[in-house]
Amino acid sequence: MKVYATPAEALEDAMRLAGAMTLKMAGIDVPFGGGKAVLAIPGQLADGDRRELLLSYGELVDSLGGTYRTGPDVNTTVADMDVIGERTPYVFCRSVGRGGSGDPGPYTARGVFHGIRASVRHVFGSDELAGRSILVQGVGSVGERLAEQLASAGARVLVSDIDTARTGALAERIGAEIIAADDAITTECDVYAPCALGGTLNADSIPLLRCRVVAGSANNQLAEPGDAERLREAGILYAPDFVINAGGVLYAWGTEGLGWTPDQVEARHASLGDALAAIYTRAEDEGTTTAEAAERIARARIGPSESADVDR
Ligand code: NAD
Repeated sequence: MKVYATPAEALEDAMRLAGAMTLKMAGIDVPFGGGKAVLAIPGQLADGDRRELLLSYGELVDSLGGTYRTGPDVNTTVADMDVIGERTPYVFCRSVGRGGSGDPGPYTARGVFHGIRASVRHVFGSDELAGRSILVQGVGSVGERLAEQLASAGARVLVSDIDTARTGALAERIGAEIIAADDAITTECDVYAPCALGGTLNADSIPLLRCRVVAGSANNQLAEPGDAERLREAGILYAPDFVINAGGVLYAWGTEGLGWTPDQVEARHASLGDALAAIYTRAEDEGTTTAEAAERIARARIGPSESADVDR
């Protein structure tokens, strides 16, 4: 749910996000495609208007008969999924009391944590996080839990958010350093973990990065495909977003769809690190970017006919 300047921009974002979801589902090798909806709002909605919008969206999702199942993302919550659930059963991540699996953010964070360890191992030869400096940009549902786990593992954690109330309380609790939102890109660190909005990696920002690894949860981190090559040329290892941020989908789908136990969920989260390690090796072997290697693996699973329709 987001304010867009024009309906065309909302549609473009939905198509890009849907393409990323298709790759994400293929990346974790589950037998579904991916999709995404955006709710383009004119500005902050009053509570009643928000509820009405969610209910009519629930009717739309229901009319698709289960071919599309929705779930939470930026600016929507478990409580919002409960409202949508008043109109359709085809909604992931309702509250546990309403039969859902709750907030996926912590589980996305768990997958990113494993992904950071695999990335650190690839670059530094050990996945030990003690002493590594890791900047988490955006400490919302995913970033806060990621920062907590990194701090527990002994990393030197730096946190940055436009909402300074969030960074203040968190930094005090876990002993992190606060970085001003405008300084996140240029701050020296081992790992930069973008966990806010997409598009932070572009022709302007990449030359300013002072990190060895980019590994975070944000969807569509690259402003354009060529940014993957810019990162490679800069000697920065990039963890493809649609792989490293699949932990929430794995959790919701595994728990609600397949009845996975917490141990099974954790095993699948750890396997995201293995998937990234394989992508890094393949990228080196083929002399390509990590994004290209990840896409090749995903597209091979999707198959030749559909893969042409994945819009990136
Ligand atoms: P969220 O809305 O809970 O948190 C985002 C945080 O980023 C907020 O604290 C916000 O203040 C901050 N922020 C926004 N703009 C910023 C900026 N310019 N600089 C610094 N901070 C900024 O969102 P979330 O659920 O934590 O998701 C974070 C990202 O991860 C999103 O891109 C989302 O699409 C992606 N993602 C989330 C999940 C999930 O399970 N929640 C799964 C996959 C991908």
